[in-house]
Amino acid sequence: MRIAVPAETDKSEFRVAATPETVKKFIGLGADIAVQAGAGAASGFSDADYAAAGAKIGASAQETLTAADIVLRVRRPAASEVDGARPGAAVVAMLDPFGHERELAELAGAGVTAFAMELMPRISRAQSMDVLSSQANIAGYRAVIDAAAEYGRALPMMMTPAGAVPAAKVFIMGVGVAGLQAIATAKRLGAIVTATDVRPATKEQVESLGAKFVAVENEEFKQAETTGGYAKEMSAEYRAAQAELISAHIAKQDIVITTALIPGRPAPRLISAAQLRSLRQGSVIVDLAAERGGNCELTRPGETVVVDGVKIVGALNLAGRLPATASSLYARNLLAFVETLVSKESGGLSINWDDELAKATCLTRDGAVVDPRFQPKA
Ligand code: NAD
Repeated sequence: MRIAVPAETDKSEFRVAATPETVKKFIGLGADIAVQAGAGAASGFSDADYAAAGAKIGASAQETLTAADIVLRVRRPAASEVDGARPGAAVVAMLDPFGHERELAELAGAGVTAFAMELMPRISRAQSMDVLSSQANIAGYRAVIDAAAEYGRALPMMMTPAGAVPAAKVFIMGVGVAGLQAIATAKRLGAIVTATDVRPATKEQVESLGAKFVAVENEEFKQAETTGGYAKEMSAEYRAAQAELISAHIAKQDIVITTALIPGRPAPRLISAAQLRSLRQGSVIVDLAAERGGNCELTRPGETVVVDGVKIVGALNLAGRLPATASSLYARNLLAFVETLVSKESGGLSINWDDELAKATCLTRDGAVVDPRFQPKA
């Protein structure tokens, strides 16, 4: 079995889909693995590191992909970027399928069997394959580090001979995996942390991290979690009550980190332009939902803008900005999933189509897009 790790082609992607550690493990499974020259450079892994782990170094994407049974990527490859892989080869990546039906159809046309890691069921058995969690953890941490760097003041309270400095007030909106890590990081830096979410289960999680929970806790809030553990889209009435509560709270904050997402929907708007203007000069908002339109009305995805003295950081791919750590965890997520696609007896690619993990993540197979949600509209 041959595994290929081509270099990422998006210039803003610094992660890599395999590390020397996972290369060794793949070889232990009986695979040959080719890593394109330079693929790990931005994550701090040199070609020599991969070669020492047992990988062959491919001089080009073409050479790396030749006769591959499995292609590992961070981002969805274009159809032309799987050229050379075997027909039916498994492509394992974050396929970012929502809104990209055309690209998926092209990938299907290239004859590969493509698996979207972000659609992995969030069940105990698949925890080690959960790329949303591994990357969100890093993004939540990085958001606080970015906010601290942009904020012109200290986060912890300081008692100095020149006088006391108050602790910064940090407010986390959306307490999923990224939000919980952001709370923990801001607490470690000495900030006074509050947090909000629409899912009742988060209240206890927030409090267990030593932060204060702020939310409209009405009947709708008690029902706001889907059976899958995600947030529902809230009613106009709830959003109005939430906005009123948040308006009063947000005006007193120094740093706001927003992480709220609803699967397959645009990010909910949580901070209006008027609320933003109530923050004092020098405050910072880091909008982790920038990629999905932003939780803040004035976020510009990919940019940092200053509005009335408030900085709004709309950074994209925050996890990718901690590339060595993000790649290490992502690569382990891929290894754990690929192990389920390989036969223990023959060591070859052998996909069990009765397995709920393969079924939930497979988007293209036998030349077609197989998940009806992403099939091209007639
Ligand atoms: P996410 O990225 O989908 O959303 C981030 C947070 O935003 C969520 O907590 C959500 O409730 C919140 N949110 C949505 N709309 C909001 C609004 N209008 N106002 C305030 N907050 C809002 O979330 P996630 O990090 O992917 O986590 C989703 C769920 O999955 C959680 O219950 C988490 O515990 C669970 N999870 C399970 C596993 C597992 O079992 N393997 C692993 C990771 C996460």
